Amino acid sequence: MTRDLEFYKNLPQKQCRECGEVIEEQAESYIYECERCFSHKHE
Ligand SMILES: [Zn+2]
Repeated sequence: MTRDLEFYKNLPQKQCRECGEVIEEQAESYIYECERCFSHKHE
């Protein structure tokens, strides 16, 4: 049951540059921070 994991490991994962959290939403490619850090900086 590791095939899915292997598959995802091969994908380039975007990580938050602030906390290292993996960013799941890839639709907005300009975002380099997770939602938490992003809202912290822009509220
Ligand atoms: Zn973050």
